[in-house]
Amino acid sequence: MKSHYRAVVIGGGVVGASVLYHLAKFGWKDVLLIERSILTAGSSWHAAGGIHALNADPNIAALQAYTIDLLPKIEKESGQSIGLHMTGGMTLAGTPDRWEWLQSAYRTFQSIGIDDCRLITPEEAGELCPILSTDGILGGMWAEREGYVDTTGTVHAYASAAKKHGAEIVEKNRVIELKQTSNGWEVRTEKGIVQTEHVINAAGLWAKQVGRMAGIELPVSPLNHHYLISDTIPELEKIDFEVPMTVDLEGFTYMRQDQKGVLLGIYEVDHEHWMVDGAPWEYGFELQQEDTDRIEKELILGFERYPALKNVGVKTWVNGAFTFSPDGNPLVGPVQGKPGYWCACAVMAGFLQGGGVGKSLAEWIINGEPEADVFGMDVSRYGDFAQNKRFIKETTGQFYSRRFIMTYPNEQLPAGRPLKMAPAYSDMTSAGCRWGATYGLEIPLYFAPKEFKETPSLRRSNAFDFVAQECSAVRESVGLLDISGFSRFEITGKGAEAWLNHIMASKLPAPGRARLAPMLSEEGKLKGDLTIFNWDNSSWWIMGSYYLRDWHKRWFADHMLNDVNVCDLSDKIVGFSLSGPNSTKVLERIIDGPLNLPFMGCGIMDVGLMRAKVGRISVTGELGYEIHCNAVDHIGLRKELLKAGADLGIKEIGFNALLSLRLEKSFGIWNAEFTQGYTPAETGMDRWIDWTKDSFVGSHAASVELNGNGPNRRLVTLEVNADGADASGYEPIWSNDKMVGFVTSGGYGHTMKKSYAMALVDTELAKEGTDLTVHIVGVERKATVIAPSPYDPSGKAMRG
Ligand SMILES: Cc1cc2nc3c(=O)[nH]c(=O)nc-3n(C[C@H](O)[C@H](O)[C@H](O)COP(=O)(O)OP(=O)(O)OC[C@H]3O[C@@H](n4cnc5c(N)ncnc54)[C@H](O)[C@@H]3O)c2cc1C
Repeated sequence: MKSHYRAVVIGGGVVGASVLYHLAKFGWKDVLLIERSILTAGSSWHAAGGIHALNADPNIAALQAYTIDLLPKIEKESGQSIGLHMTGGMTLAGTPDRWEWLQSAYRTFQSIGIDDCRLITPEEAGELCPILSTDGILGGMWAEREGYVDTTGTVHAYASAAKKHGAEIVEKNRVIELKQTSNGWEVRTEKGIVQTEHVINAAGLWAKQVGRMAGIELPVSPLNHHYLISDTIPELEKIDFEVPMTVDLEGFTYMRQDQKGVLLGIYEVDHEHWMVDGAPWEYGFELQQEDTDRIEKELILGFERYPALKNVGVKTWVNGAFTFSPDGNPLVGPVQGKPGYWCACAVMAGFLQGGGVGKSLAEWIINGEPEADVFGMDVSRYGDFAQNKRFIKETTGQFYSRRFIMTYPNEQLPAGRPLKMAPAYSDMTSAGCRWGATYGLEIPLYFAPKEFKETPSLRRSNAFDFVAQECSAVRESVGLLDISGFSRFEITGKGAEAWLNHIMASKLPAPGRARLAPMLSEEGKLKGDLTIFNWDNSSWWIMGSYYLRDWHKRWFADHMLNDVNVCDLSDKIVGFSLSGPNSTKVLERIIDGPLNLPFMGCGIMDVGLMRAKVGRISVTGELGYEIHCNAVDHIGLRKELLKAGADLGIKEIGFNALLSLRLEKSFGIWNAEFTQGYTPAETGMDRWIDWTKDSFVGSHAASVELNGNGPNRRLVTLEVNADGADASGYEPIWSNDKMVGFVTSGGYGHTMKKSYAMALVDTELAKEGTDLTVHIVGVERKATVIAPSPYDPSGKAMRG
């Protein structure tokens, strides 16, 4: 061990070994992995080693696919056997809803380029796995590249391959303390002190403590997990092939062959956390005692699915812990305020995801950005609110127990809620508000009578009529929306204007005006779709999505210039928007003097009894105002606005209505039409770029794109011949049986009474009138490219 390395990885499980391998492979030879005990000594040694393709987040599914492709390569590179059994795998559905969902998931896979899957009948499933009882099975999805690995062999393969690329590994050496230095970190270990520019927390079961060493409280907790290995099963002795890795979604189990027996793993509803503050340092290779009473229900289902198990004994029980984040996806990336500290934690399927995590993190460390859109596993998707232990326990427990339970797009899960509430929450709840949660904050979805219950569904929700009424209130009179669920940053200081010009690709608004502002990465991809307000040239606001707060703050900090203050007002400032032809009338009744804000104008004014900041902005395509007030004014402002609009039929609305209204205007939103995986030219965001500016972050790459042949795909609006179900996102789009794009978002346009989708399609097909098809909940539907903004294409209503 030398005294200085460019990067030090803490933890020799599958994740740390993969990070080390990728760093070294991408050219950083001066890298070290430090392991407290011996390689694999955390949860890696006792994992079931299963690799299967499904993940609810398509970007994570794509990274899993990368890992699966990588596994044979590291075996070859290292010369170390990983015991890869690519048996193929099946995911089985036992209810009509689940079967529908699986068919949709299959189409999503096609969209993201995973093309070795197919749907199978129960009979086929029975043939592929002769020990399977197909009772109650309606269908399944077959994936060619699924199976299992030898876990210890795999960790050693990553480690050996890393060493071949020049990396070093030190075992039996615990990291005791971390100290931030002027250019990195001092790593104090049992065997001495190491200086490094970058330190990577890949400490698995100990991630919490290694986070705390740097003053970081990670939202992660271990949970116990059981699998059994059976004695030899005579039926398996008789066949000359291995049965596939099989996931029984209704049974909460996964199964793979283990020699001539099987390994059966269980995700039980009655879950159990283990060492929420992280494993003890002296924890060795022990396992927990099996607790068959707690998992009895799921065990019975497993034995019914594989009846041969009833006739043989259990050879081994494993009850061991591994770590989970609140949404089950890894916590990866840099931590704001801790330059050079990187997370590779909460990887709950390290053998499946470890390759993708290692690749993305190594790219991030070396190049400044990962190649893929990895927001779904970015540690910055959680803020301080997620440090609370009860929140962590409730959400990680919920994820664990629902590991094989589908969540419908219109389903709201209860764990860790309600946590953050805008002040008018109780009044709005009494008015029938139904809530969703974003970054811990409750946001209104729609309003309905007390007795109404929404049914989770992939099809149009039974809340459809309530949303329709809210949309028509906006189009015909005026709707009131709680807009607390946005982030607001105040930018002040002598350098504010120069910094905004540097970080935003757009022109800056004049005093008293607001402007849409794309933010780009150095590679010229999108980094934000923000709104800038210039209140008076000395105070500016950046407004964006609430759940991207920490993500944006980290970006701002990484691109900071002198004499700039960024103050996050997101929990201090809340507000309401008014939208609809009568919105001016309502606001004029309670402001002091005439309302003469131009479209995209903004100003400070008295609204009722409150002093508020008002912007004339519209996401619905109607005349509209956003009224921002202090949190203490929220309840009063709502009352004043409702009272002022009572005789005009003002109606409270939620974000479900907003999503329908904006779709009729072809207004894109973040995480659908705009992501860090797409470019301005692909998405039409380039029209907001100010090409006259000397330079701004991403200007070089964006101009290269502008001056090239143009993007290969473009964002379009589609009118869909749908029936009872609308597109939601990632559905594949076809032209003459060739996949030519995918849906970014979709839904029903209640004013136009049509189903719409926005989609990225091959450029040559992005022409008005092109006929395409799109798969929606398993059915192929006709879809036609139409001109943007089917509602009010000239924007007359919005501009007034
Ligand atoms: C019963 C069971 C079945 C599973 N089945 C599967 C499966 O089928 N497929 C799958 O993909 N995953 C499975 N998993 C999950 C898998 O085990 C984990 O995702 C994976 O092991 C996580 O790896 P890791 O490297 O993040 O953490 P760990 O394996 O916990 O490694 C962390 C390492 O860091 C070291 N360390 C910690 N602190 C320090 C320190 N201060 N100094 C130096 N070293 C330190 C530890 O000693 C340890 O070796 C299963 C887990 C269990 C428990």
